[in-house]
Amino acid sequence: MSYTHLKDRQYYEDVYDRHTVEDARRGMVYYDDFYLKFEKKLPKDDKIDRPGNAILLNVFYMQTVGDDLLYRYENRDQKISEWITRDEEKDEQIASARLSEEPHCKHCGKQGLRIIDKSLTHRNEDANYDDPEEVMFMLSCPHCKKNSAFWEDGTPWKLKPTLCPKCKAEMTHTTTETKTAMTFTYTCPSCKHSYKDKIDIKDKKEKPDPNYDEDRAHFCLQDKEFRDKLFEIRRGLLEMAALGKEFKEKEDNKHIYDAMKEVKKPKIAELTPLLAPSLEKAGYIEFSLDKPEMGRDVFIGFSCLDSKSGREDYDSRKTLKKLVDKALIDTNWRLMSDGINYRLGYLNGKIRAYEREEDIKNLVMKTRKLKPKDNSIDTDKSRNAYSIKGKNGEDILL
Ligand SMILES: [Zn+2]
Ligand SMILES: [Zn+2]
Repeated sequence: MSYTHLKDRQYYEDVYDRHTVEDARRGMVYYDDFYLKFEKKLPKDDKIDRPGNAILLNVFYMQTVGDDLLYRYENRDQKISEWITRDEEKDEQIASARLSEEPHCKHCGKQGLRIIDKSLTHRNEDANYDDPEEVMFMLSCPHCKKNSAFWEDGTPWKLKPTLCPKCKAEMTHTTTETKTAMTFTYTCPSCKHSYKDKIDIKDKKEKPDPNYDEDRAHFCLQDKEFRDKLFEIRRGLLEMAALGKEFKEKEDNKHIYDAMKEVKKPKIAELTPLLAPSLEKAGYIEFSLDKPEMGRDVFIGFSCLDSKSGREDYDSRKTLKKLVDKALIDTNWRLMSDGINYRLGYLNGKIRAYEREEDIKNLVMKTRKLKPKDNSIDTDKSRNAYSIKGKNGEDILL
């Protein structure tokens, strides 16, 4: 098996790191520019390394460069493995490809062609870069010495015709090649319209990049101290952002948190005195609680007798439900949704306690019809200050 796609691991590492360096250099242009403008605007008695200023520069550094560096560092091995797997698969696809039938020479119609090349390419010209490619066979004819190309399934490869922009006839073209460019001259046999297309093939000499090795070591986070510092900054900023968000949420939804403070949390022993009197007044006697069911939440069954004659099933249940709901409205207890059962004047149901902050919050919002403020706009104003050495040893105030 020949490896036309798969290369040394070093190749992929170089490609990945070059990309990292190029991105980072672009980001540093913004950061340096911001830094200079920021420094210029400072009042005379202020210094750029004052903690308050450093915070802002930190945030800006992470946004323009730092977060990307960490992301690319963390994903480097995985990305490179993906590239290697992809290229291995391409080689495998080429190696295992077989022509499904013996093709005829496109030029003389004879058989017995010899495969001189196999390559991967998109059959559809509009395909995206990531779409799967197909194997194309290049065959040489021993009889007429001309080449023909076929897809794996035996379909001859066809160059998509260039149509005349004026009369839509198929154009012919000639190619002239110089050292620096290829020129294609298209001519319409029908209306004689003609135009040229030029492709530069000048060797793009790579400009010398004396800082590359140093930048690669720096931006690819090869220095452990710098790397650890960046991770620490990111962690700090994320924590501060989360705290800030929580603080802001509490501030924005003060009306809800205030209402939560007003919610009464009666003990189990306090439930009977809370419920029994109002039920008795309405004719429900002998109120009693079952043994509580203690799980993640607490449930308690209750029962009573309807002493009012003439009040039957539906009315009795509905009236009792109203009374229980009303008695519990200011507490963290609620009647459960499966409601109340009735048989021959004996009624029973279940109530449950809401104990977790989030549950109580939902409870008061529902009961009192309180709406939270929209917190979708993220304001991470609170940030932390750090200090770190830049790539040239200068203090870049992270
Ligand atoms: Zn031939
Ligand atoms: Zn034409």
